[in-house]
Amino acid sequence: MAFKSINPATGQTVRIVETWNETQLEQALAEVAAATPAWAASRLETRADALRRVAAVLRSRRDELARLISLEMGKLIGEARGEIDKCANGCEYYAAHGAEFVADEIIASDAGRSLVAYQPLGTVLAVMPWNFPFWQVFRFAAPALMAGNTGVLKHASNVPGCALAIEEVFLEAGLPAGVFRSLMIPAGRVNRVIEDKRIHAVTLTGSEPAGRSVAATAGAQIKKTVLELGGSDPFVVLEDADLDLAVHAAVASRFLNTGQSCIAAKRFIPVASIADEFVARFKTAVETLRHGDPLLESTTLAPMARVDLRDELHQQVIDSILKGAVAVTGCRPIPGEGAYYEASILDHVVPGIRAYAEEFFGPVAIVIRAQDEADALRIANDSPFGLGGSVWTRDSARGERIARQIQSGAVFVNGMVKSDPRLPFGGIKRSGYGRELSRHGLREFVNTKTIWIR
Ligand code: NAP
Repeated sequence: MAFKSINPATGQTVRIVETWNETQLEQALAEVAAATPAWAASRLETRADALRRVAAVLRSRRDELARLISLEMGKLIGEARGEIDKCANGCEYYAAHGAEFVADEIIASDAGRSLVAYQPLGTVLAVMPWNFPFWQVFRFAAPALMAGNTGVLKHASNVPGCALAIEEVFLEAGLPAGVFRSLMIPAGRVNRVIEDKRIHAVTLTGSEPAGRSVAATAGAQIKKTVLELGGSDPFVVLEDADLDLAVHAAVASRFLNTGQSCIAAKRFIPVASIADEFVARFKTAVETLRHGDPLLESTTLAPMARVDLRDELHQQVIDSILKGAVAVTGCRPIPGEGAYYEASILDHVVPGIRAYAEEFFGPVAIVIRAQDEADALRIANDSPFGLGGSVWTRDSARGERIARQIQSGAVFVNGMVKSDPRLPFGGIKRSGYGRELSRHGLREFVNTKTIWIR
């Protein structure tokens, strides 16, 4: 069996990598287990220096790594460069702040001295998706390694070149062999790794079925998990919104990465008094997007990552139109080579239509019209997901009041939802549990240990 990456812009094979046999997997796990105690015992400054060197390698190889991302999963080259920068920034952030996040906390109690120490758990297995093939990995690896854990990665099957390149970056930065390894195994062998006693915790970013399977196995082994699953973020536009700002953000927030982002705005919820104007302006802006070769700077709409994902998305769109949703623009695959789909808007979506409740992981904006603020809030929360959300209003106090009532892990007022190393990232409901980034992300994979001394 082999992993094969196919350029979604052309359909041509980029790379074939043989999957590992049991002996190869065993060797890698043994190497990581051997490296774990010394890494856990290393000084925080040593680990911070290592992360700074990782950042430097990423920056020095930026163009080459960005091109690899683009070839394997189709991302626009400019966005791919931005992704590499973001990984470097994330490493530098934890190099600068990690020590503070795991510093001992002295607590007054009945002891002569009592404190909380934050100690690494051991080895964290990360099961990661293809949509941000570098950032998803660094988002887990930078805090986990800074905390003194080692990491193993099971990356998505369609980005094997990225999986190998990430491992190479850590080695090139001079991290000891075995502190980070990419395991070239298919999804069917993930449970065997979770069950291995050398694995202490698991983090997964991906779909609900994958999350359910991984969490069930980890649960049976009493191993800590963090799950970052899908989302269908609401984008609530109130009558007092700055529509120029909102429309501009709507396009960026839905069509970045060709809509294949868990925190993309997916459900646009304008209130009745501005709904027609918002949709008309949104349509005009969306129709300026131009599909083409993602390696060309002039392209503004990249292909989706795989033809099968494009076809699944189209089926969701067709089913929604059959049930009464209105195609405002797009809503068709683009004929010819590659996994291209038109930048699309589906309006008048109501309960009972697939677009109302399901995640659409591609370039399709779903419009659900609301009567007023209360109705918009009700619709925003009428979702199985709870990852992010945004509210557009000129009244920031009103925005904050609504933000507090939206059921999700993050709400941005007059801003596009984004991940930032300084702020916690994660969801509630079927979007998962646990947090990544900030001090909260780093503390997911530590032993919060009480030490009490008479
Ligand atoms: P996916 O099919 O779940 O794949 C994600 C990873 O899980 C891949 O490495 C995949 O390996 C592995 N996997 C799949 N089934 C598995 C199983 N039963 N047991 C163990 N591992 C398994 O998801 P995707 O299609 O790549 O990504 C799309 C989904 O991820 C969307 O729902 C999106 O919203 C979500 N996502 C969430 C976030 C977030 O931060 N919340 C970020 C990005 C994406 P193979 O490739 O070998 O199948």
